[in-house]
Amino acid sequence: MSAINILTSFYLDINRLNIDRLNVFLYKLIMFKITNSTQSQNKKPIELFHNQIFTGKTILIIGGFHGDEPQGVKILKKALTKNFKTKNSIYILPCLNPDGLAKKTRVNANNVDLNRNFATKNWKFSNQDEFFGGKAPASELETQFLSNVINEIQPDIILSLHAPFKIVNYDGNAENICIPIAKIMNYPIENDIGYPTPGSFGTYCGIERNIPTITLELGEDESEKWQLEKVLDVIDYLSNLD
Ligand SMILES: [Zn+2]
Repeated sequence: MSAINILTSFYLDINRLNIDRLNVFLYKLIMFKITNSTQSQNKKPIELFHNQIFTGKTILIIGGFHGDEPQGVKILKKALTKNFKTKNSIYILPCLNPDGLAKKTRVNANNVDLNRNFATKNWKFSNQDEFFGGKAPASELETQFLSNVINEIQPDIILSLHAPFKIVNYDGNAENICIPIAKIMNYPIENDIGYPTPGSFGTYCGIERNIPTITLELGEDESEKWQLEKVLDVIDYLSNLD
């Protein structure tokens, strides 16, 4: 059974079993785990959550691309426990790279930078340093899982949490969406990170699939409390975007 089949059947189950409860929570960001069917190389679950709202825009929020950037993972795990009004369909993937998180490395268990491993037109075999793009495009389980999720849910907007540059970076037609985010964070908007990124997630989604893809680079010297408040405001903004 493929990950997507498992995901779909879990949807059906959850809709059948919880229909009354779901109506009560219709406008809240109550998140249900829709699959833990995918595991990283080291058999850690990669979890995806959804608020069970199927109207409005579809928003995908991702943390933990890089294991040495734990800020986004912590924030998204806390966001899952918060209730706030939302009219959009929200998916949260708190940690794409649990193996990297466990060993505090940018790369995954195979020493691949997931943000260089996507099957873009500009993917290339690179030096085996911390930006190693893998032995082939989408060679990594984590990359394959996220690519499948993108195909399945067809997000309208993607937000990905990174560190440490304190900027709002974007790919695709996302500048208008970035303006309020930059205001909330008090960060500048940069649409060019300043160095080439072959095989990046932003190129895969933002440039090659026309999905506005926002990379929010948090700082390293900010308090967890401040980051949580600000990112929850960003999620709130995206949750109610027309
Ligand atoms: Zn990063």
